[in-house]
This record gives sequence, C-alpha cells and structure tokens, in this order.
Amino acid sequence: MIKFDYLEPESLDETFELLDQHGDSARVIAGGTSLIIWMRQRLLMPKVVISVARIPNFDTITFNEHDGLCIGPGARHRDIELSPIVKQRYPLLHETFRKVAQPRIRNMGTIGGNLAGGDPLTDPGASLIALDAEITLANSQGQRSMPLEEFFVDYYQTALNSGELLTEIRVPPPERPGWSHIKFTPRSIEDFATVGVALTLRTKDGTCEDVRIGLNSVAPTIVHAKQAERALLGKAINDAALRNMGEVAATEVDPMDDNRGSADYKREMVKVLMRRAAQEALERLA
Ligand SMILES: Cc1cc2nc3c(=O)[nH]c(=O)nc-3n(C[C@H](O)[C@H](O)[C@H](O)COP(=O)(O)OP(=O)(O)OC[C@H]3O[C@@H](n4cnc5c(N)ncnc54)[C@H](O)[C@@H]3O)c2cc1C
Repeated sequence: MIKFDYLEPESLDETFELLDQHGDSARVIAGGTSLIIWMRQRLLMPKVVISVARIPNFDTITFNEHDGLCIGPGARHRDIELSPIVKQRYPLLHETFRKVAQPRIRNMGTIGGNLAGGDPLTDPGASLIALDAEITLANSQGQRSMPLEEFFVDYYQTALNSGELLTEIRVPPPERPGWSHIKFTPRSIEDFATVGVALTLRTKDGTCEDVRIGLNSVAPTIVHAKQAERALLGKAINDAALRNMGEVAATEVDPMDDNRGSADYKREMVKVLMRRAAQEALERLA
C-alpha cells in the first residue's frame, strides 16, 4: 500500500478547508470499499486521504410527504436497505440496495461513495434515475444541484470538480406506482450486474401515462433510457409496444465486451429484460 496522511475533519466546513488546502493530492474516503482497492492497485495515489465519517448528520435519512426522501451521502447501503420509510415508500430502492454486493460491502459502502465512484456497473444510480433523484454538490464557495443523470459524465468520471463533495441525494415522492428492478447476474448473486434495469411506470386505462428507466452495466456511464421512455409513452401497453421499447433501448446503450458477456449479448439482454421489467411493473399495478 502507498503511504498517505489520514485526516478526520469534524465538520463540513473543515472538510472543505482541507480539500482546498491539499487540492488534487487529496482524496475523500467514506467506507473505503472502492478507494482502498484503487489505491492498492495504484490507480489512485493520493498523498492525503480525508475521511467524511465524522461530519455530523452526513449519513441521515429523512422523509416528508412534500419533498420526499433526503439521503445523506454517508448513509451505508445497509442503512438504506433496512430503513422502514424506504421499505414502505420506495420499494424499488429497498430492492436495489438489498442486492448490492454482499453484507460485508453493504455494511461499509456508502451511497455517496457508490455514486461518486462513477462506476457504470453499480446498481443504485439506475434506480435513483428511475425515481427522478437529484443531488447536491458543494465546496467552500457554495453548492449546486442537478438531476442525477447529469452527474454521470463518462467511464468512472462524474461532474464532481476538485474540492467538491456530494452532500445530498433527494428522491421526490414516487409518482409512478409500478416498479421493477432486475439485476441480471448469471455468474453469482453477489457479482456486479451483467445488465441492470430499473423501471417505474404509471398507466391509465391500459395506456402508458409515464415511465422512467435507468440502466446499468451497459455503457460507459449509468444510462437514463430516454428514447425507450418516449417509445412507450402514450402507447397502449401490449406485447408489441414492450418489444418496441426494448428494441429502442438497445440502440441507446453501448456495452463493452468483458468477462460477463459480449457487447452483443448484453444488448440482446437489454431487450429481454426491459420487457420483463415492464411486465413486472404492470403486475405490481394490477
Ligand atoms: C467486492 C465488491 C463487490 C461490489 N459489488 C457491488 C454491487 O453488486 N453493486 C454495486 O452497486 N456496487 C458494488 N460494489 C461497489 C460498492 O458499492 C462501492 O464500493 C461502495 O458503494 C463505495 O462506497 P464507499 O463508501 O466505500 O466509497 P469509498 O471507497 O470510500 O469512495 C469511493 C469514491 O467516492 C469518493 N467519495 C466518497 N464519498 C464522497 C462524497 N461524499 N463526495 C465526493 N466523493 C466521495 C471517494 O473519493 C472515491 O473516489 C462492490 C464493491 C466491492 C469491493
């Protein structure tokens, strides 16, 4: 392991001060489940590692009927999985966090570290996109908010600037009661997804009134499948419409060949799993 200084600031302001002071030679650590691996592999070699673990209220999960859910970036996967309000009002999130890695990782890894890592194989981003999540980024100068899908810029690259922290994840009250999360992992349940689909849906008299779709493991970033949404919106939901939605989704992904499957295989699985996810969401509405 490389040598580094380890700092534990006790407030957000102190953290920003340290980030400004150390610039690009510093790296934030939350649960450390990704960062430590990248440091061991010498992919990242920070001279200073700044922990967010002691920032007050950095891991809180709150809910109100008007604004919905507000998740602190320090909340661990397991905190979200086990949160009664998440289970009751955001079953898609409960289901997603239940499937992240295995309990050892879920007990350490945080939602902030998961999103800020910018890894396209990870699960929460797709479900949060399907639920219209917004995030806030902040530094010593102020803060800015954006829809989550704008945060994912490229392979392991996010909209975070140097000195900036992800400080909040907000999920409005769900507007589409039908939902599905499919994590397709033929190798092992604990593996990263070969293809991941998160979908939320609202229908009226058999017609799609609203739909929102996030996909993971099928492109250099987590994908908001906007064209597939447009393909289904306003249509009578039948087998042909769902097939068409899957076909369109397959044109807006850009998977890589890897040890989980070829790009062609993943694109075919997008078509199949999108249909399956929509059918599951419809069953939940019945
Ligand atoms: C064996 C294994 C299996 C896994 N399987 C899955 C899986 O099935 N599904 C899945 O979704 N994920 C999976 N993961 C990834 C895991 O979810 C992430 O490692 C974890 O969420 C990262 O959170 P962390 O708190 O440990 O982040 P850290 O490792 O501490 O940090 C990760 C990155 O985020 C940055 N960071 C952390 N917090 C902030 C913040 N608040 N603001 C700005 N930057 C920040 C760090 O600087 C670093 O660049 C797996 C990981 C491992 C090791």
